[in-house]
Amino acid sequence: MKLKEVTEGKVRIFVPDPTGYMVEGKFDPSWAPVFYNPKMTFNRDLSVIVVSILKPKIIVDALSATGIRGIRYYVESWKSEQLILNDKNPNATSLIQINAKNNGIENAKIYNKDANALLYEVKSDYIDIDPFGSPAPFILSSLNAATRNGIVAFTATDLSPLEGSSPTSCRRKYDAINHKLSSSKELGLRVLIGKIIREAAILEKTVYPLFSFYADYYYRLFVRVENGARKADDNINKHLKYFGECPRCGFQTFVEENCKTKCPVCGEIFSIIGPLYIGPLYSMEFLKRIMDLYSNFNYLTSFNRIQKLLNVIEKEARFKNVFYNISKLASKLKISAIPPIESILECLGDASRTHFAPTGIRTDKEYEEITKCIKSL
Ligand code: SAM
Repeated sequence: MKLKEVTEGKVRIFVPDPTGYMVEGKFDPSWAPVFYNPKMTFNRDLSVIVVSILKPKIIVDALSATGIRGIRYYVESWKSEQLILNDKNPNATSLIQINAKNNGIENAKIYNKDANALLYEVKSDYIDIDPFGSPAPFILSSLNAATRNGIVAFTATDLSPLEGSSPTSCRRKYDAINHKLSSSKELGLRVLIGKIIREAAILEKTVYPLFSFYADYYYRLFVRVENGARKADDNINKHLKYFGECPRCGFQTFVEENCKTKCPVCGEIFSIIGPLYIGPLYSMEFLKRIMDLYSNFNYLTSFNRIQKLLNVIEKEARFKNVFYNISKLASKLKISAIPPIESILECLGDASRTHFAPTGIRTDKEYEEITKCIKSL
């Protein structure tokens, strides 16, 4: 394998040299014998911050590829008692051996196993699932491996099923009815969490989101795992519902059932998706800890972007409602000139932007107040 050395955060690692794996002058990280995607540095940078707060005893990087993620956690976040790095690709595990050693990590346990097999053998308080595409095949095993109050981190790059562009794929992978709605960027994350809650319930466990975000072409989600059939039932009863958007007037709301329901504003039948998670996407306490600590990581190349994202999330996290996509809402209301988002925020008073969409606003104010503001500007 032709290798080159790259620096990311505070580590230097060997990755396949892209020049050796070009096809017609183009390179896709999935064409190389071991996967390394520099576009995921932002995901890893933010995860380094999260892990530095969590300080887990046993880190399991179940789908390691070059080992970059787990190695960075160990070097930059926290020297855990155990570091487990795994990949089913033997080229990857050979590279992980080299990369761990070159970064001064002598005691990492490096496995060449199917992640699901590994996750039924270990117990851990921090498990990272960073797959190609959907994390669905690894949900049950990772939750099984999580100790009480342990954390599982998921990356999902399969946005088309989650955001409703591929409804049949969503039905297959996430057992949810889905199609594209105005706020699908957020609803996709909620569909994923809904699936994780239902899988956890099989094990008489449940999960609560600690921190989550959407970026580029993926979701990143950290959940805390709790044990107990009762907690699993309570979370399902309280937080698993459906979501309805009126195709005519754009009114949106959570609904109990997937059945024909009339929009209370204009009487049209709702477009409904779900089941999905309707609770908070962040632990406010954990978010505060991130806000207090992240400036220690100003060496990160994506520091400015992290700062921007966290500032928006800090503001939007206190609202319970799904965001309204103002450009989509305005077009439903047949308003051709969309007012500036800042003016709508000013008009509403208690509202914020959302990191999910540049034309989104988040507020717990009523639909009528939002449309009144849009029409008056
Ligand atoms: N976490 C890495 C990072 O941050 O650079 C990237 C991981 S890459 C997206 C997914 C990895 O999962 C690949 O290296 C692939 O070989 C591995 N993989 C896919 N299916 C697997 C399975 N069932 N068990 C173990 N590894 C698997």
